[in-house]
Amino acid sequence: MNKKRAVFLDRDGTIVIHEPYLSSPDQLKLLPNVAEGIRLFKEHGYLAIVVTNQSGVARGFFDEEHLVLIHKKLLHMLKDEGVEIDDIYYCPHYTEGVVEKYKLDCDCRKPKPKMLLNAAKKHNIDLTQSVMIGDSEVDMLAGKNAGCACVLIKNVCNNSLVSTMAGIDYVVKDLLEAARILTQR
Ligand SMILES: [Mg+2]
Ligand SMILES: [Zn+2]
Repeated sequence: MNKKRAVFLDRDGTIVIHEPYLSSPDQLKLLPNVAEGIRLFKEHGYLAIVVTNQSGVARGFFDEEHLVLIHKKLLHMLKDEGVEIDDIYYCPHYTEGVVEKYKLDCDCRKPKPKMLLNAAKKHNIDLTQSVMIGDSEVDMLAGKNAGCACVLIKNVCNNSLVSTMAGIDYVVKDLLEAARILTQR
């Protein structure tokens, strides 16, 4: 069976407006051109998979059940825009957390590539034909560690850091620009 390609998407600052430790579904706000960008990737045969660090769980800011509700709402919002997400992976862990169950040095927290590797195994993905898109260096490193191309979404927070970041293949203003570049390679 032929392997598939995937676009791996960071959540905060990439799909939705970054709210520090976003803890309620009502706080979710899609960034501009997100649905259009994901749709273009999907039209070119890419799976769309969210990979997100959510240490707020380990830090005790919200529990895992709550995170699942937030992600349910996110899937609904995108579906309303005609876009289907194929899977969501999240890392709830943090070494300095306060919730015992999640206070560990896991192997899934980005920049480690485990979420991408697990997705590749489950969905039969060729990582060398795939792309990681995010707004921080840990996204770029996770993508590189998995063998993907890496696209940075530039924003007001990371603007001054872009020149010092490792692992970036392309810098773009939004997901649609990323999709236009990657689907025309
Ligand atoms: Mg982010
Ligand atoms: Zn983890």
